[in-house]
Amino acid sequence: MKKYPSYLNLSETELKQRIKQAYQNLQSCQLCPHHCGVNRIAGQRGICRSTEQVKISSSNPHFGEEPPISGIHGSGTIFFTNCTLRCVYCQNYPISQLGHGNLISISELSRIMLALQKQNCHNINLVTPTHFVPQILKAVEQARASGLQIPFVYNTSGYESAKILKLLDGIIDIYLPDAKYADDVIAEKYSLAENYCSVAKEALKEMYRQVGNLKMDKNGIAVSGLIIRHLVLPHNLSGTDRVLKWIAENISKETYISLMAQYFPAFRASKHSKLSRRINREEYNKAREYFEKCGLTNGWIQQHS
Ligand code: SF4
Repeated sequence: MKKYPSYLNLSETELKQRIKQAYQNLQSCQLCPHHCGVNRIAGQRGICRSTEQVKISSSNPHFGEEPPISGIHGSGTIFFTNCTLRCVYCQNYPISQLGHGNLISISELSRIMLALQKQNCHNINLVTPTHFVPQILKAVEQARASGLQIPFVYNTSGYESAKILKLLDGIIDIYLPDAKYADDVIAEKYSLAENYCSVAKEALKEMYRQVGNLKMDKNGIAVSGLIIRHLVLPHNLSGTDRVLKWIAENISKETYISLMAQYFPAFRASKHSKLSRRINREEYNKAREYFEKCGLTNGWIQQHS
């Protein structure tokens, strides 16, 4: 009988093979669509500014995620330091852009996973994990051998290589990506994300292929599936109409969407005139209309305050 979470079904040989393949992407780094080609094992850094060593800013039960992720006992978040994107408005910029955090070993990372399980968290929520996939897989191997049995949430900007995502097939049960933009020029300008749209579309399709629509248990806790976050930006820089239409037509109308109104001009946003204010009520009402017009019905629509 198939076990849950999915990674309990993976043979030791298969898991070792995935780890090996993932580490091969670190020597001339190809872990994300930037394809920097730097040797992170030798200490070189690419756009994400990370070497081989894992750096995290915090780990704790988190209650502010979407209800099926946080549940009653919290989501066991591990915030990885640095990011493959350079969003000028990042709300977590001390961690993602300024590099705040502590270096830890892989054994420590696996112990953190087990500690979050001990605190009754519903899942291990890997926040901004993309640039540390090989190390995470190694930690999963160690944690699994020591009794880890809660699912993983892969919480990402959506700027993912489909090839790397395939290494996570059967390991990640819940994908929580952003769909940030509908326009590559805007994505490059504000997030330094070349070809964001085509890259994120392929990534979302791969995630959906692996886990499908969101499934919850009788208590409303996420068991598996895809939840897509979309942060509405001022002047519709996020292309909300096109992003939601694409999801409805190419992923599924059943997709759970987390529509977010929480944008505020953090980090360097005030230097960009179009990003220097919060979204207004009219902009958010339009975003809500797009959501309904596309035939999407599942998810959460944040209140505009
Ligand atoms: S993970 Fe970092 S070094 Fe590797 S390709 Fe992406 S940005 Fe470059």
